Amino acid sequence: MPDTHSSTPSLITSTIDFDSPGFHAGHLRLPYSHDRSGYGFIPVPVFMVHAGPGPTVLLTGGNHGDEYEGPIALMKLARRLPWLSVRGRLIVIPALNYPAVMNATRTSPIDGGNLNRSFPGQRNGTLTEMIAHHLETVLFPITDVAFDLHAGGASTNYLPTLLAAWPDDERKHADYTRLVDTIGAPRTLIMDLLGENRTFAAAAQRHGVMFFCGEFGGHAVCNLDGLEVAERSIERLLTGLDLIDGPAPRAGTVTYAVEGHRHYVFAPEAGIFEPAFRLGDQVKAGQPAGWIHHPSHPQRPATPVHFEGDGMAICIRALAHCEAGDCLGHLASVVSH
Ligand code: CA
Repeated sequence: MPDTHSSTPSLITSTIDFDSPGFHAGHLRLPYSHDRSGYGFIPVPVFMVHAGPGPTVLLTGGNHGDEYEGPIALMKLARRLPWLSVRGRLIVIPALNYPAVMNATRTSPIDGGNLNRSFPGQRNGTLTEMIAHHLETVLFPITDVAFDLHAGGASTNYLPTLLAAWPDDERKHADYTRLVDTIGAPRTLIMDLLGENRTFAAAAQRHGVMFFCGEFGGHAVCNLDGLEVAERSIERLLTGLDLIDGPAPRAGTVTYAVEGHRHYVFAPEAGIFEPAFRLGDQVKAGQPAGWIHHPSHPQRPATPVHFEGDGMAICIRALAHCEAGDCLGHLASVVSH
């Protein structure tokens, strides 16, 4: 019998009572029974400040464990939380897939789980599936607005970009557009994951949660420009929601969209990828995206790879080594919203 139903209580417990007013620092206790710890749990740090009426905002980093601007921005915010005057409820989890963050890898070293491909998760599943299930059954139902901060991780690099997903409910579109403009990121991207619906984003939207994401860098480093955009985006989202005081300028942004398969470039075969573009380049369909060299047969001509659409390069592969099917980068085109 599937055990993803919301009526089944999560096995993850919290040391924080999410209904309790004031500032709280605690843990999500992720049950982990293994050879060296029969009754143990993994403590995932969680922070909350709750002060009366107002929306509930969930801020998360470390969905993937090799992406750093989000966790850094949220650790800095967590240290300010005890003194932050809030209207509503703010929940901060800097390292959501904690085992992956502590291992500096995209996926969990315990179960190999990619949290952002694990929704809706399972109560009795792997640790990563249990985290997804906890979000589905405990956190999303109490959340009005979620902001999940990402980057390209070890394998890709992004121009620092806010990711937006307009709500299914058209009555919320104007409010959402106002928040996008208030955040005023240098770029706002409408992502296209080619039908992928096991993500945090897809799950949050199924729950009617207003959702923001972001790709603030990559290469598994801390991108200083990206960190600045991430921190400013958090601050302006919270002021835009009137959760905290502060100027909420209508800064405006440039909105881009990823337009399906033609905006992606994938490796046709394994080898060493030499790109023919840089982040921010405007490219045309048919233009070379790069070449794949063959270290086992150096005299064999490098295999050319071409762009299949027009647009701006917003993501590039960070690892030169590639296998057939690896994403070498993707484009996005300007849209008006
Ligand atoms: Ca990511």
